[in-house]
This record gives sequence, C-alpha cells and structure tokens, in this order.
Amino acid sequence: MTLRGRLTAAFLTVVLGPVLLGAVFVGTTLSTVDRSRSTERLGLAASAVRTSIDALCQQLRAAADAVALRPDPATRAGAAGQVVSRGLAAAVLVTDVAGGTTYATPGGPATPWRDCAGAARTGGPVRALSARVDLRDPAGTPLGTVAAAEVVDPAFVARLAAATGVAVTLLDDADGPDRITHTTETRRVRGAVLAAAGSLDGDRVTATPDGRYVRRLGPAPGQPLPLVLSVAGERPSGLPAALVGAVLLAAVLAVLTAWRLARVTTRPLVELAGAVDRVARGDLTARVPVRSRDEIGGLAAAFNRMIRETAGYVTALTSSRDQLRGHLGVLGDTLASTHDLQRILRVILHSAIAATGARAGAVLLRDDTATLVGQCAEGLAGRCPAGTEPEELRVPVGAGVVGAVAATGEPQRGRVPPGATPPGEPWCETYVAVPFTVPGGDAGGREPAVGVLVLYDRLGGDEFDDDDLATLRTFAGHAAVAVENVRVHEEAQRLSLTDPLTGLWNYRYLRESLRREVERASRFGRMLSILVLDLDRFKTVNDSYGHAAGDAVLAEFARRVRGEIREVDLAFRQGGEEFVVLLPETDARGAATVAERLGAAVRDTPVVVPGHPGGPTTIAVSVSIGIAVYPDHASTGVEVLDAADEALYAAKGAGRDGYRVATARPRPAPPGDGPAAGTAVPAGATSPDDGLPRAGPPPGPSPVDRPPPHRPPPERSSADDLPADGSTGRHAVGAPGVTQPGGASCGPHPPRQSRGR
Ligand code: GH3
Ligand code: MG
Ligand code: MG
Repeated sequence: MTLRGRLTAAFLTVVLGPVLLGAVFVGTTLSTVDRSRSTERLGLAASAVRTSIDALCQQLRAAADAVALRPDPATRAGAAGQVVSRGLAAAVLVTDVAGGTTYATPGGPATPWRDCAGAARTGGPVRALSARVDLRDPAGTPLGTVAAAEVVDPAFVARLAAATGVAVTLLDDADGPDRITHTTETRRVRGAVLAAAGSLDGDRVTATPDGRYVRRLGPAPGQPLPLVLSVAGERPSGLPAALVGAVLLAAVLAVLTAWRLARVTTRPLVELAGAVDRVARGDLTARVPVRSRDEIGGLAAAFNRMIRETAGYVTALTSSRDQLRGHLGVLGDTLASTHDLQRILRVILHSAIAATGARAGAVLLRDDTATLVGQCAEGLAGRCPAGTEPEELRVPVGAGVVGAVAATGEPQRGRVPPGATPPGEPWCETYVAVPFTVPGGDAGGREPAVGVLVLYDRLGGDEFDDDDLATLRTFAGHAAVAVENVRVHEEAQRLSLTDPLTGLWNYRYLRESLRREVERASRFGRMLSILVLDLDRFKTVNDSYGHAAGDAVLAEFARRVRGEIREVDLAFRQGGEEFVVLLPETDARGAATVAERLGAAVRDTPVVVPGHPGGPTTIAVSVSIGIAVYPDHASTGVEVLDAADEALYAAKGAGRDGYRVATARPRPAPPGDGPAAGTAVPAGATSPDDGLPRAGPPPGPSPVDRPPPHRPPPERSSADDLPADGSTGRHAVGAPGVTQPGGASCGPHPPRQSRGR
C-alpha cells in the first residue's frame, strides 16, 4: 500500500470513525430517550385508564346500590329509571336468584355485559361495562342481583383516549387471536399496533416499525376491559435518514479532504525521493521545490541546504584532490629530475603543508655535530625565537620536541601549552613531527634519523590526527629518499672525480677545473699558475720495492702535496706518477715558491712504507716540476698545461729534483683577432721578467722524443669533441697526432677537496 493510500485510510479512519460513532450514539440516545418517554407516557395513561374505569365502576356500583335498596320491584324500576335518567348508568338490569331478568331499563346495551369485578368474559365484543350488587330482602335472603351498566362504544373509547392523551384500542373479549372492537388509532397503523400488542403481557412496552409504542392494559381486576394503549414516538421520523445522510456527507467530504491532504503531503515526499535518487546517481544539482513553511517545507529546505553544502564539500575536495595531484606531480617531477636537495625539501614541505592543512612547517637535517639544522621553512615568520630566521633553526638532537623526535626516531603530535615552547623551536599551538631515516642504517644496523619534518598549527585549531601522521610519514619517506639520493649522487660524483689511490681529483676533474679556473682568471684579469709534477725515476721505486710500495709512495706524495697548498688550490693526479696543481691568482713567482716547497717536502723526508716485507722501508724520492702561467705562457687552459708539461721535461732534462718555468709566449693578438681573443687578459696581469729558471730550449731530448704525459684516454662524449675553451685540442709533446681531451661538459660543482683526504 502506498503512503498516499495509508494516509488516506488513516485520515478516513480518524474522521469517519467518530462521525459514525456519533451518529450511532445520537441515534441510540434519541431512541432510548424516546422509548423511555413513551413508556412513561403509556404508564401514566394506563394509570389514568385504571382510575377512570375504577371511578366508572364505583359510579355504576352506587347506581346499582341505589336501585337495590328499593324494597319492591316497582320502586326499584322507578329508581332504575331515575339512575338512567340522571346519567349515572346507561341501563339497569334486575335479575332473580335463578338469573332470570325481572326488570331491565329499556334501550340498554345488549348483554352480556363485562362485569367490573372481572368475573366472567363476555366471549365477544364488549358492549357495556357493569357493576353488580346483590338484592336481598330485609331478612337478608338473596332475591337476585341488580346490575348498572355503561355503554362501551367508540365514544367511550374516544373519551378514554382523550382523558389519557394516548390512542386507546379496545380488543375483543374472546379467546383466540386479538381483534379490534373500537380504536382511536388511524387505520394505517392499526395492524402494526395489533401485531405488536399480540406479543405483550404485563406492563411491557414494545415499538412498532413505524415508531409507535404499544402497551397492553387488562383485562385485570379493577380494569376488566381488554385495552391496548399506543402512542407515537417523539423521535423525528427522518432522524435515521438524516443521520445516514450526515454520515455519508461526512464520508464524501472526508474522502475528498483525505485525498487532497494525502496528495499535498506525499507530493513533496515524492519530489524529495526523486531528488535523493538523482543525488544518489551523482547529480548534485538536484533541488526540491519548497512549497510551504511546514515541516515538509522545512525538510525540503534542509535537503537543499545539505546538497548545497555537500556540493561545496565535493568542490573543495575535488580542488584539494587536484591540488594534491598537482603537488604530487611536482613532487614526483622534482624527485625524478633533480638532485637539488633544498628544492626537493621545499617541495616536500609545501606538499605536506597543503595535504594536512597546516599553517607552517619546516624540514631540519642532522649535521655532523648532532644538531638539527633548518633546511627550509614555510609560514614560520614571526614564530621563531628572536633574532632567528626561519631557515636558521638549530635544535640539538634530543632537545625539545623536534630534537626528541630525531633522537628517539618516534613521531610525535600534540599541543604545546601556552608559554611552553621548547627553546630554539618555533612558537605553535599544535604540532606533528616525523623523523626520516635513510635506508641501510649505520654500522649497528640502526637507521638514525637524518632529519625531521615538522608541521605547526593545523587550520581550524584542531590537533593533528593519526591521518595527518600517516600522510606526513609518506612525505618524510620522500624526504628520506631525496636525502639519500642526493647523498648517493654526491658520493658517486665525488668518486667519479677523484682518484681512489691518492684521494686527489682525477684527470676528468682536472679538465673541468682547468676550463673553469681559466675562465675565472680571464674574467677577473687574474693569473693562474699550473704545476705539473712527475716523480723522478719512479720506475726504479717500483722495480726495487714492488708495486705496492710504489702505491704507498704515491699516496704519501699526494698527502704532502695537499699539505703544502692553500685551500683554494687544487691538486690532481693526472695519471701514473704525474700530478697537476692549479694555483688560482698566483703568478710565476708564487708558483715557483710552491714548487720549491713541494720539492723540499718530498726530498727532505723519505717515505716510510710500513707493510713492506722485512719491516718498514724508507724510500727517498724526488719530484720534478714544470710551471706555466696563464695568460703568460698560453691563452687557453690546454695550452698552459702543455707549456707546463714542456717546462717539466725541461726540469727533467736539467737533472730532475727541480722546477722550470715555461718560456714566455708571443703576446696575444688584439681583441677580435682570433679565437683566443675572448680570453685575453690585461697587460698588467703578465708576470714581469723575474729571473726564475726558464725552460728555454729543452736541453735534453727534443719535444718529440719526450714520453707522453700520463693522461687517461679521453672519455667519448659530445662535450669532449671540442675543448671548452674553443681550441681544437692539443698534441701531447712527443706524441704528435694523438688527440687529447680538451674540454668537459659543465657539471655540478663538486664539493671542495678537503685537506684530510
Ligand atoms: P723519470 O720520470 O724520472 O724520467 O723516470 P720514471 O721512471 O719516473 O719515468 P717513467 O714514466 O718511465 O716511469 C713511470 C713509472 O711509474 C712507470 C710505472 O711503473 C710507474 N707507475 C705509473 N703508475 C703507477 C701506479 O699507479 N703505481 C705504481 N706503483 N707505479 C706506477
Ligand atoms: Mg712519468
Ligand atoms: Mg717519473
């Protein structure tokens, strides 16, 4: 059953039930009242009839007495005549002891008469009512009886009816079915009254179908006539019809009203159900018309509001998801495409803040001194301790919130009570901090936190929850991978640019550094000295002490070289036992000083090789050094290196264990005259003639006879095809026609070589 059907049924039940009950109640009540009133009227009428009949009987008895008192028949006849003439009785009848009539007033009603004492029934219609007295002589001997009678005719019945106010019917006084003798009832209802009276006895009252009430009265002692009293009920005759009509009308009205109400009630619900269905299918534009201000109207308005807000949430969620996707895209691109740790951490931090709805945040990395150092920060302006920039946060591991997270490796979230901000950390109300570790762990297998990602003050004031923590763990994982990637990348880069035996930069980095330093010297009008070092007779060392001892000598030599040069100077192992030292902003004299120092450092202290069989061995070595200066001796890095090579071999030729400065080259062409024009330097940067030992024409073997320098074969790459300084390459002295690598692609600047390496 539909809701509309149920509502209609309920409404009809509620409305029609009381109407029907009311109608029944009214009908029943009216009927009861009517019956009771009619019964009462019939009772009163019965009393009145009895009284009248009784009075009549007494009157007749008195009349009979008056006749019986006469002593002889003649006077009795006279008395009888007087009684009749006075109207005390309609007739007088004197009988003897045997019952024979001795006298009768003329014109009296036919006998038998109904006796007031009710002694005997007439056996037919009652024509007269009589009272009888005994007739005796003075001695008391019965002589007969005297009866005085009154005519019972329609007039008599009419008088009774008039006296009682009800209809009176006189029945036949014979056995068998009742028959009407006289009645004041209308002909139409006589049959019904007679039928109703037939089933009655005593004082009972019954009703006829047409609304009349009937009661029997007599024959009984004191009231010998067989009478039926009837009265019309006072109930309006059209009442049942009126009640039924009222009920039907009410029913019709109720049905119409119920239909209308059900329609008005269910229509918004149907519309609401349709709208809900549309929403369920994803249509958030669905709306329900608000037709009224009642509860259903309120429901519709609330539904519309709910959908509006849901649509708002969905829009916000969609844009937040798109934003997150964008962030993840940027994050992915950043992670994939760069080893710029600062940039990666910035992107990770920004994405984490966007994903969790934080107001601020920072990424801190652990340094060598067990201190967390801020790498990047967002939204921390005004939150940091006085005088501290957001990126300058420094928190010792183990101290405060962030330090504890790094120390324990356990993430933390919570609320900072007012005034309880840990020293050195930004002010906040709520925080969530997650450590991140690099895979692999330390020597003990642990994975110490290398950094902490911390966010502050979630938008809305709520504390960060476990979902935020989970999100932040993801971002911290990215940060860890980024840190590890950069570390691995740096290590790989370092390894690719350093010589594993000596720890010095390798030839590959030499090319790059040479290009860079020449360019810098050129741009700023400075000098750059290049020292090429070659251990003297090193082959003998190998032959005498073994290759391992030779390696140890090379490593020690490198260590001494590093110890003799400045922080800004760069030392390279070019190959074999040949080394190069770049001295930025240094002229030939300064380079000669360094060469002397280096020669002395090698010469003065023989190398002690510990692991040689038979105990530590002391190996004395010396080094020959060639010096060339940019721009004095050549206009490109490669040429300067060649010049230094030539000077080296001059030094070898001069007896070894010394240095030689390259001979000055012709002055560079004026600007615009050649490929080297762009690298020309001011004349003021040129070294003066200083009397230093010059290479001059090599005294020993001619350049073409010199062994080639120990330079690794070129790494084939597009950047290697042409030297970066624009030259077409250089020919190693003594190996004409062999092309040497002349330039390198511009890679990231590697970390500075530390003296301890
Ligand atoms: P000089 O330079 O004074 O003319 O003589 P030299 O003996 O040093 O000259 P040469 O260039 O002929 O010999 C270089 C030797 O260095 C040859 C090789 O055995 C040795 N050598 C090159 N690289 C290494 C290395 O990595 N380890 C060791 N132990 N020896 C090396
Ligand atoms: Mg050599
Ligand atoms: Mg040598």
